[in-house]
Amino acid sequence: MKTASCILCGSSDLKNSHHIEFENKNYLYDFCNDCNFTFQNPWPSRDIESIYNDKKYWNSSDVYNNKNEEKKSANNYANYQNSRFKEAKERYMKIEKFLINKKGSVLEIGCANGIFLNEWKKNGWKCMGVDPARDVIDYGIKNFNLDLKSEKWEQLSLEPNTLDCIYMWGTDGNFYDFHLGFEKINKSLKMDGIYALTYQDFKHPIRKVFKQIKMQHNALYNFSKKSIFFLMDKLGFRILEHSMTWQNTRLSHIKKILGLSTKGIDFSVKVPAVSYNLLIAQKIRNI
Ligand SMILES: [Zn+2]
Repeated sequence: MKTASCILCGSSDLKNSHHIEFENKNYLYDFCNDCNFTFQNPWPSRDIESIYNDKKYWNSSDVYNNKNEEKKSANNYANYQNSRFKEAKERYMKIEKFLINKKGSVLEIGCANGIFLNEWKKNGWKCMGVDPARDVIDYGIKNFNLDLKSEKWEQLSLEPNTLDCIYMWGTDGNFYDFHLGFEKINKSLKMDGIYALTYQDFKHPIRKVFKQIKMQHNALYNFSKKSIFFLMDKLGFRILEHSMTWQNTRLSHIKKILGLSTKGIDFSVKVPAVSYNLLIAQKIRNI
């Protein structure tokens, strides 16, 4: 059922944003004029989450066109393994300087196969990862010997106030239980603990050019800079850093985003992900 008020700030000043069509279903989004948050309205049924255990999600670069077959091996999750190792190191360094306890406990939400978490493990951290996708979790347990759980973050059983750091990369639109998911982050962290995430600024002007970014039906909501700052404050976090990210990627990926043919010579490139931000925050109060 459609709600008349924003699920983030409660304002009733909503307007239609856009819609996404996926497998003959239409997903409608509203935009809040007060906090600049975008979210699915009506909220979809829970079976939207079955996508995380669907091979299509992991093996195709773009399940929103009809060219899955031809792109199967050109641009899938596995092909980015090498750049992820590099990125894992860079991200760790970025957060590390804010950590009070240099060898504590860390948890990654939406950890996939654990490449990022593996970097923490190498640096002496007690690591835990959670992701609903069983296959990638199995891979991470086998290959990195990590403590990974194949379940949803909202359902993970955890002692409150025990973690030094929680982070999530690219998991900025996926909590089905929206309030519970975010509040649990505060509740699981120790006081002064660090929460880091990347998010797509859905209202960034560059998105007028790169229209396809974050246009997947399983993005239940989309942040803007204003709405993520609002959320952090509500959740008892103080923002320590907010910066643009850099992406290690392939030329073919850039071409895809620009809507060009991905054929031809391909190589690794490092590009600014202008609307994709890294936010590092610290828990300053219990909620
Ligand atoms: Zn709002």
